[in-house]
Amino acid sequence: MKIINNGNLTIEDINQEITVYGWVNKRRDMGGVIFVDLRDLSGIIQTVFNRKFLKDDFKIAENIKNEYCIKVTGTLQKRNESEINKNIPTGKIELIANNLTVLSESETLPFNIYDDKEIDEQIALKYRYLDLRRDKLKNIMILRHKVNKAFRSYLDNNGFIDFETPILCKSTPEGARDYLVPSRIKKGSFYALPQSPQLFKQVLMVAGFEKYYQIAKCFRDEDLRADRQPEFTQVDIEMSFVNQEDVLRMAEALIKHVVKDSVGLNVDYDFPHLTYFEAMEKFGSDKPDTRFGLHLNDLTEELKNTSMNVFSSAIKDGGIAKCLIVKNNKYSRNEIDRLTEFVKIYGAKGLAWLKYDNDEFSGIIAKNLEQDIQTNIKNKFNVENGDLVLIVCGSPKVVYSSLGALRLKIAEDFNLILDNTYNFLFVTDFPMFEYSKTENRYVSTHHPFTMPESLDKLKTPNQCLSVSYDMVLNGYEIGGGSIRIHEEKIQGHVFKALGISDEEAELKFGFFIDALKYGTPPHGGIAFGLDRIIMLLAKTDNIKDVIAFPKTQSATDLMSDAPNEVDINQLEELGISIMKEDICD
Ligand code: ASP
Repeated sequence: MKIINNGNLTIEDINQEITVYGWVNKRRDMGGVIFVDLRDLSGIIQTVFNRKFLKDDFKIAENIKNEYCIKVTGTLQKRNESEINKNIPTGKIELIANNLTVLSESETLPFNIYDDKEIDEQIALKYRYLDLRRDKLKNIMILRHKVNKAFRSYLDNNGFIDFETPILCKSTPEGARDYLVPSRIKKGSFYALPQSPQLFKQVLMVAGFEKYYQIAKCFRDEDLRADRQPEFTQVDIEMSFVNQEDVLRMAEALIKHVVKDSVGLNVDYDFPHLTYFEAMEKFGSDKPDTRFGLHLNDLTEELKNTSMNVFSSAIKDGGIAKCLIVKNNKYSRNEIDRLTEFVKIYGAKGLAWLKYDNDEFSGIIAKNLEQDIQTNIKNKFNVENGDLVLIVCGSPKVVYSSLGALRLKIAEDFNLILDNTYNFLFVTDFPMFEYSKTENRYVSTHHPFTMPESLDKLKTPNQCLSVSYDMVLNGYEIGGGSIRIHEEKIQGHVFKALGISDEEAELKFGFFIDALKYGTPPHGGIAFGLDRIIMLLAKTDNIKDVIAFPKTQSATDLMSDAPNEVDINQLEELGISIMKEDICD
């Protein structure tokens, strides 16, 4: 059994005969003496193969190549002063080998694993086990382990019970597309993979387990982005007899513990709370990055009566106008044109701008906008020489999303984001519903089991808030949850507001509605996005870096080649036939 960690050997261990195992990280042949840096998970020890001591085994040493997996026995010795390597912790010692065994050989690797240069992603994912040998991914995997451990230790120590809930289950209510698994026994029926353990954890509250947690795999068949994977991990939590404040207090203490335990960071402030509305007004986003200012400023009042129709008529139609003020602007005219194209991606009709130089505004708008309005803008926002005012006018949705995105772009362009800053906050009071034009009905912003602010407010769904919350870190949503409905009657009202008929509710969530009839405790919870948290702590912007075996943007696993076609017999057993035109190459 291997018990020695190469990287942890120290000067204290010298003069002992020891055996080390590992991979050939680097080999230098000096003729008669061969030096091999032997790597295991803990680090590197230099092994020295000397013809004098190795005798017949020296031939083996002459033939070993990088990444051969070997076993070496020898005496650990102090290196000569001139041979000390200050770059590695074991740089003062080396193992003088008297025995060498090749445990297995290695072909030449498809890429260099000894530096941190970017490699083609397709190749890196195909040979994931080799990429995982590189320091970057290796360290992230170890960090992932520490983060998991820290979550578990806090929750275990605070009375939470670790559960496992089914992977083959009935469709769950998070609102994304399900991954389906056909049933062989009940042909034509399907399991869904859980989008989250939401209903199971609520049923566990009915079952009397007051504090639940699970590090749970979740599956959502959605279009992928850099920070999203089809299967991902949540730290899922539920508690009985709590209100919103209780859950948020627990979540804040938990995350502080995790950050401290995993990366040694002491977060010593109380997390600020912003309502959804405040976040949108100020940052144009419900997951604001608060590491820099550049707030959205309101111009609706100033522009509502201007003779410039683009503004006044949009405002008359229920629109709003907001602006960002870029201090010490360095954008050229051409660059501002490109910003205009940028905001159009978010549905904005255009980007109006005013430059302030030599104590006056310039730009096309400045020629047409009434002088008193220009003076108001200058005074209200303390516009100074060198500043650029960027304005978007339109529906609140378009204004928030375009200026919210522009705010982030400007921060990047002007390097406004402070490194090594972790800005946590809570966003609360989300709208209960969103109107879906495609479905022609209201849909839940969180999920249908979220408590509305009041029964009365359910009568005006577009104004009704919910008792729900997100935890945000540096512009990413890292957790979200809500206080749940624990009364069947309220649940019924919410289904009604969502346009879900009694029959549909029964069909989809019948077991859950039944459970609500048997003394359901008031309860609430939260789920943390584990992958995203690790991504931020590891300071990478690619979620694939934090998952041992991730999928590509098209949801394939390039290493194992999943998904793949299956045997026709397997399909027949399931009663499934594939339409020819649906087969992709
Ligand atoms: N199940 C929810 C989600 O995945 C989290 C929660 O409400 O606890 O977003």
